[in-house]
Amino acid sequence: MQITGDILIDGAALRGNGKTLRAFNPNTGNEIAEPEFASASDEVVARACELARAASDTYRHAPLETRAQFLEAIATGIVALGDTLIERAQAESGLPKGRLEGERGRTVGQLRLFASLAREGRWLDATIDPALPARQPLPRSDLRMQKIALGPVAVFGASNFPLAFSVAGGDTAAALAAGCPVVVKSHSAHLGTSELVGRVIQQAAADCGLPAGVFSLLVDAGFAVGAALVAHDAIKAVGFTGSRNGGLALMRIAAARAEPIPVYAEMSSINPVFALPAALAARGAAMARGYVDSLVLGAGQFCTNPGLLIALEGEPLNQFIEAAKAAVTEKPSQTMLTAGIQTAYQEGVARLSKEAGAAAAQGVAASGPVQARPALFVVDAPTFLSKPGLHNEVFGPVSIVIRCANEAQMLSVAEHLEGQLTATLQLDAQDTALARSLLPILERKVGRILANGYPTGVEVCHAMVHGGPFPATSDSRVTSVGSTSIERFLRPVCYQDLPAALLPEALQDGNPLGVWRLVDGQLGHA
Ligand code: NAP
Repeated sequence: MQITGDILIDGAALRGNGKTLRAFNPNTGNEIAEPEFASASDEVVARACELARAASDTYRHAPLETRAQFLEAIATGIVALGDTLIERAQAESGLPKGRLEGERGRTVGQLRLFASLAREGRWLDATIDPALPARQPLPRSDLRMQKIALGPVAVFGASNFPLAFSVAGGDTAAALAAGCPVVVKSHSAHLGTSELVGRVIQQAAADCGLPAGVFSLLVDAGFAVGAALVAHDAIKAVGFTGSRNGGLALMRIAAARAEPIPVYAEMSSINPVFALPAALAARGAAMARGYVDSLVLGAGQFCTNPGLLIALEGEPLNQFIEAAKAAVTEKPSQTMLTAGIQTAYQEGVARLSKEAGAAAAQGVAASGPVQARPALFVVDAPTFLSKPGLHNEVFGPVSIVIRCANEAQMLSVAEHLEGQLTATLQLDAQDTALARSLLPILERKVGRILANGYPTGVEVCHAMVHGGPFPATSDSRVTSVGSTSIERFLRPVCYQDLPAALLPEALQDGNPLGVWRLVDGQLGHA
């Protein structure tokens, strides 16, 4: 399959007539000459949105089986791209082949999970409260509820997962499973990868007999296309993964519309790890290695990167810090995703040096393009608590160890954290009392609490929560990973005393779809 630099719209490829841009190879530090990408004009953005609006009712009424087959066809098409996809993603992201192959597996698995979810229909939340005509003093109507698709969704993928959080990533899979058409804004950090995957989705839609407006892919040279997309009144929700500034910018646009819409933004998180005293004393050296390995994984470019480690003063912590410093010192610099992300990383580390003092350890320096040198800082709890700048995410392989004089200080650090995607407890049985004191605070602060692991690595399954209070996300009530992420793109509709012939299939007597339903308070297949 060839990459042309075109916009994908109305079942075809269209040459953009806006500003042009080229992809960038962080491994070489140079632009990728061919092809040149051209951004969408306002007219093309509006057309993609109108096509999505026009496809919306047809698509949400399509049989659940058709939606499932559509998602499976996308998965099959992505696998069929073979090395063409992996090689382009490698060139555009600098990520290693093995990592991208793993990410492709996750992307395809995610699409298939949503296909099975679409088929099963539990997310419809079909609920029937039958009429009670003889109820005194007043009869009750026949009340039936199901969830329906919100309408067209605008998707903005992240730079750090060019497959799993991008064109056919979690947001797109969840929105398509819910019955929402999708308009994706290509990430400038992986334009060619986006086009390859976009062409697969376009073909799958055609093969499944779906209206072309069910999927479009727009190119942007700057922020104008993204802004126009979120502002268009055909768009009913936004899925975003990226920076806090980017997410907030899109939230402001969405809130200023005549009809404000939800923006589900995954933004910044520094993922505290609490090393509790007994565990630290028992296995501090191994813990230090695990922490540093997690910290530098993927050049630290994970939203679940462990940016803080919090522990009590004492000899076990001193030994832990020495082991962590030694481990960091041996870690090589790594290629970052984009020159902009590298600049932000260097500025962030410089800011930490000002606020926390010189780095306690740094990794091996490198002279290649777009490199990130791992760094470790150590501060005491009062310093951390008094400097809000130390609470902000620095995207990359950097972390801060916080020394707490006592348990009260540790609880205070937890209490003063911003919202996070994750918190980790490194604990042994003797740490249970302190863990019990921390848990109620952490439950208020984070979306996922781990024990004796590291937060990098997010399983795609039914129980996963990849979310959390602001600024981790814009809406702590939902997750962006896992099957319940479909909830973001649904809303409930209640049908009161509707004639049987007008009821949606999921709510008809006899349960023709065979989905889970709550009938008169009883969950089952009745
Ligand atoms: P980003 O710079 O925010 O970009 C994300 C997408 O939003 C891109 O398509 C970008 O367009 C667009 N965008 C950014 N600002 C915009 C604005 N003001 N108006 C319209 N569109 C805008 O983020 P990134 O480069 O993907 O990743 C780096 C950051 O993302 C890090 O700070 C990291 O913490 C965060 N991140 C968070 C998570 C999470 O799950 N919480 C996951 C991954 C990354 P362009 O393509 O033109 O840049």
